[in-house]
Amino acid sequence: MLGGRDVRKIIVAYMNEKNKKIRRIIDDPTRINASEASQCTRLSYYERVDPINSKSAEIFQTLLTYGFKQSFENIESEYKTDNLTLVIAADIILEKELIVKLQITDSLPDSPRPQDLLYLNACLYAFDKLEGILIYVRGDGKSSEFLVAKSAKMFEELIRRARVLSTLLKEKRVPIVEPSESCMTCKYYGRCYIMERKETSFSIDSLFGKSKDESA
Ligand code: SF4
Repeated sequence: MLGGRDVRKIIVAYMNEKNKKIRRIIDDPTRINASEASQCTRLSYYERVDPINSKSAEIFQTLLTYGFKQSFENIESEYKTDNLTLVIAADIILEKELIVKLQITDSLPDSPRPQDLLYLNACLYAFDKLEGILIYVRGDGKSSEFLVAKSAKMFEELIRRARVLSTLLKEKRVPIVEPSESCMTCKYYGRCYIMERKETSFSIDSLFGKSKDESA
């Protein structure tokens, strides 16, 4: 407390507001950011309609990524289809041809994350380019790169997901759970999976017909 004010609370509120702006969360359901459609749409829905404040580690990760991306061009574009606008930004466009997307990561993946592929592929359509490069960069500067070619099928899937999110936002209906590894670190885990931890007499040995005494 400082002068009767909870400074920590004020800082967290400020950081959360900043976090929301950086993530470009908008209120208009006809405008969907490509990152909202490429990640779990349920998460994107909660972030717009009923957000839980992020933990400080998550906020700092967002700010770090934002600072890192500000060093590049961060060129924005929009892709319009019927009554939906897909909002998107490319980190760099090399020689007017190659779209580059950079991701800060803790560990370098063996293959690109599906949501990054969907996002980069959407960039290829929004900027009308044929190829892109996805670069994962670790804190120590090590990186891995993947060349991505334009795919109509992947783009259709992203547009379909954006439409579903847009419709559900208009109708105030929560999208279905999308089980994946991301759920393990998601702040909405408790809303999606209700779980009660109970003591039971179950043991792996009992599955094979051994009593507790025999297995001791
Ligand atoms: S816990 Fe999983 S399904 Fe639920 S919002 Fe998070 S990522 Fe989506």
